[in-house]
Amino acid sequence: MPASKTYYFDSNATTSVAPEVLSAMLPYLTENWGNPSSPYRLGKRLVGPIEHARESVAALIGADSTEIVFTSCGTESINTALTSALYTQPHKRHIVTTAVEHSATKNCCAALEARGYAVTYLPVNRDGTLDLKLFEQSLRPDTAIVSIMWANNETGVLFPIAQLAALCRARGILIHTDAVQVPGKLKLDVNALGVDLLSLSAHKLHGPKGVGLLYVRKGTPFQPLIVGGHQEEGNRGGTENVPYIVAFGRAAELARAHTEESQRRLAALRDTLENEILQKIPHTARNGAKEPRLPNTTSIRFAGVEAEALLLMLDQLNICASSGSACTTGSVAPSHVLTAMGLTAAEARGTIRFSLDYETTPEDVAYLLSHLPRIVAELREATSPRVIARATAAAAAV
Ligand code: PLP
Repeated sequence: MPASKTYYFDSNATTSVAPEVLSAMLPYLTENWGNPSSPYRLGKRLVGPIEHARESVAALIGADSTEIVFTSCGTESINTALTSALYTQPHKRHIVTTAVEHSATKNCCAALEARGYAVTYLPVNRDGTLDLKLFEQSLRPDTAIVSIMWANNETGVLFPIAQLAALCRARGILIHTDAVQVPGKLKLDVNALGVDLLSLSAHKLHGPKGVGLLYVRKGTPFQPLIVGGHQEEGNRGGTENVPYIVAFGRAAELARAHTEESQRRLAALRDTLENEILQKIPHTARNGAKEPRLPNTTSIRFAGVEAEALLLMLDQLNICASSGSACTTGSVAPSHVLTAMGLTAAEARGTIRFSLDYETTPEDVAYLLSHLPRIVAELREATSPRVIARATAAAAAV
């Protein structure tokens, strides 16, 4: 095994840029560097590639290209969806979301709360699922928008967005879903889902970081968050990031072509990994419902282990995984997702998320499985009360 090979099990954090995506975007960093708003050919010739990319991302989610607004990331798309719903319906000052959203939604809601808006954070069950009765009860006449993620980035658990959307539609309430974790893993169809707004980010589907989109269903009231030039039909100011938009389009084409096959392949690999860990390593358990769930994600708690220490030992073997969502890596605070599911702080701190993508091979899974039981055993041994007592006694004797 070459020492430099990376065994990557953190695809929910980000993915590599696919070679096809890189070669599609490179000419827009070199010879095609103009500004698409310019009146001469160097600029004007970029309008076609942007619109082609818009059609490609629209096709990925079953939308019309006129319903796509390119943004700088998933976080911007989410902030835009929430603020637009509030700006366009000033008489409605209430938002419904869940306690397990990505920090993009969680902290946007917290900022809006600080500005006087009311937010309901719906709790989840022990398996990370939602209580539909509680959801219905949370909807109020002044609810401006429901913003609920489709797939949880930490556990992979899916929320029943189509069902939630039908309940919102019946009450004239806008619904946005953060679908950032879905493309390339599950088929996306905005009409089957029935949502008004939906957010995606290119770097989760083998595109570059720094480009996202907001789907805005035709007829949905909309006001931009980023106000400036007339770009994106006046829906998002700022000179278009042409290379990244082109890259997003190509990544969307690849994801669309591969989703069905990836879904099956990823589920089989993920199940092997999960089952082997649960069977071979004592005192382990899966966090979250087995189904419905993203096919590429497993969140496992290892009793008596600090995930941060486990991640460091895995890193020594060129294995990348995560102890929570990417945004909280480096912080030792237990994941808000896992604690909302009722895990204790110690259980949350003993949790590792493994997330796969189309580049993950059975050999990668075998490599991880060949090391993990030993590492977990070593960590448990090192932190067991007996070892600590022995070390303390030895230190006292010096
Ligand atoms: N929503 C979810 C579920 C995510 O996993 C992420 C990224 O980690 C985001 C939103 C934010 O996307 P971006 O990194 O493009 O801002």
